[in-house]
Amino acid sequence: MGEGTDAAPGPVAAPPPPPSPQVDLPEGQLAGTLAAPGYAIGTARWLRVAEIAVPVDGQGPVVEGARLDRALSAVRDRLAARDGTEAGAGAAIRAAHIAFLDDPDLRDAADRDVAAGRDAGHAWRNATRAQAATLRRLGDARLAERADDLLDLERQVLGELTGIVEEETAFAPGTILIADDLLPSQVMALDPACVVGLVVERGGPTSHVAILAATMGLPALVAIGAPIGGIADGATLILDADGGIVHVAPDDAMLTAAHGQAHARAAARAAALEQAEQTCITADGVRIEAFANLGSAEDAVVAMANGAEGSGLLRTEFLFLERDHAPDADEQAALYGTIAATLQGRPLIVRLLDVGGDKPASYLPIAAEENPALGLRGIRVALAMPDILETQLRAILSVRPAGQCRIMIPMVASVGEITAVRQVVDRLRAELGIGERVEVGIMVETPAAAVTSATLAAHADFLSIGTNDLTQYALAMDRGNPAVAGGIDGLHPAVLQLIAHTTDGARRRGRWVGVCGGLASDRLAVPLLIGLGVTELSASPRFVPELKALVRRLDSRACHGLAIRALAAASPREVRAMVREFLLEVAA
Ligand code: PEP
Ligand code: MG
Repeated sequence: MGEGTDAAPGPVAAPPPPPSPQVDLPEGQLAGTLAAPGYAIGTARWLRVAEIAVPVDGQGPVVEGARLDRALSAVRDRLAARDGTEAGAGAAIRAAHIAFLDDPDLRDAADRDVAAGRDAGHAWRNATRAQAATLRRLGDARLAERADDLLDLERQVLGELTGIVEEETAFAPGTILIADDLLPSQVMALDPACVVGLVVERGGPTSHVAILAATMGLPALVAIGAPIGGIADGATLILDADGGIVHVAPDDAMLTAAHGQAHARAAARAAALEQAEQTCITADGVRIEAFANLGSAEDAVVAMANGAEGSGLLRTEFLFLERDHAPDADEQAALYGTIAATLQGRPLIVRLLDVGGDKPASYLPIAAEENPALGLRGIRVALAMPDILETQLRAILSVRPAGQCRIMIPMVASVGEITAVRQVVDRLRAELGIGERVEVGIMVETPAAAVTSATLAAHADFLSIGTNDLTQYALAMDRGNPAVAGGIDGLHPAVLQLIAHTTDGARRRGRWVGVCGGLASDRLAVPLLIGLGVTELSASPRFVPELKALVRRLDSRACHGLAIRALAAASPREVRAMVREFLLEVAA
């Protein structure tokens, strides 16, 4: 092979851009999919990432092998140095990057190229791109996001090898970043004091970039499609992420109105935060529990600072992913105990491991599946691997005070799954001498669970609706696929009808129903959920103050009337328009 540089994009086929969601929009407006909520006014700044060029041929296997060693350890040291400096999502992504750095298959592939005389950078790029291409070929959106992590790491290692410093991440205050796509490390490097929003051509609403943006409080729209090319560098933008719209170069009147809107939102958030410790009761006296979803011990601290009354969902899979063996009972118990202590006695609903399919854990022997969303996932994995289930239950039951932790079963489709878990819980309680009752509830994420809720509720202490999965299964739209991202809306009347079925069945058995999916953090969904009889809402921690403030303004009987009308609506768009109008009246 001759001299030259290796700057070609390489063999990773990026997915095609999503079909444009622009429908009947006035000129100057672009539609996208909500990835992180919020509202921002700012100046557009394109982030274009140039490929890092590296030579094909190296200086011999010994030299190149040593260069690769040095570069990998420098990147590992840099990532390790950030340990403890970031919250849940950032830490999980950093752990994913470190796991890739330590992946022996990746290193072996690079070493083979180095032994054949290639440059260390060329070898590393070939290895990462081959693995990323394999992940993309599997056709699963979440695995495709892993491919983005790999490409991210490729850039970090190549930057180390070539001395090319990453693109500028210092932006002027008030920047709204525009990009074809973003890598997790690029988002982590942003200063939220300067960058106030993200607008992305591709991406998915559940990607790492979306999770990070929400954690950093950055409003973000993804899956805009090709029309994003119409945004010029320097253009003024109004980014209304909740409304799924970005206004490009608004006129003076729009801009003035937008500034008014931004100030009103900031003032409302400040006022809500001030009253975040108050109990959450509707205007007509119905108690609604305002809980927070957690993915880490850090999230629990944020939840408490925002007035959460407990946690309606601890996503325990964060402890199980990106490692080569399952955590033992002691490690799990330490984490659950820390979170329970942070919540100071408030309820902690611990969801049993929800891996498999779209959230793979390499050490679990789950064969590749053609349809991972319909495969071995959630409770099906735990029942197929009783050791994993028993270890996790032991860890949960060891937390004191007994009973603070409630147990929640994910992806339930039938009664047998509940009774199987309950048998293990009862056996372990007897063995551990726990006299207190431990609640066992279920997630309603499958249409099967929603329509048979009365039957299931006879065996469960509570039901919590996972609207993310329930929406994907009701509408047959993959929640991680940007091609259908524009159509995924939990306020589709079909989903609302399934929620109504769930509350109806549970009420007949005297069980309470909560929502821990994304709808609990969607202010337009809140009146509908209360109107349908939901009494616990578990939202993202930062949304809790606004959730409580909103609930205090609502009358549950008026919400019920609204919900009945929404059930008969023709589209999610019609439902959203109905709720907007309703909330204007409530505010009046
Ligand atoms: C859901 O499906 O709504 C849910 C809360 O679970 P997850 O998003 O973790 O799948
Ligand atoms: Mg789910």
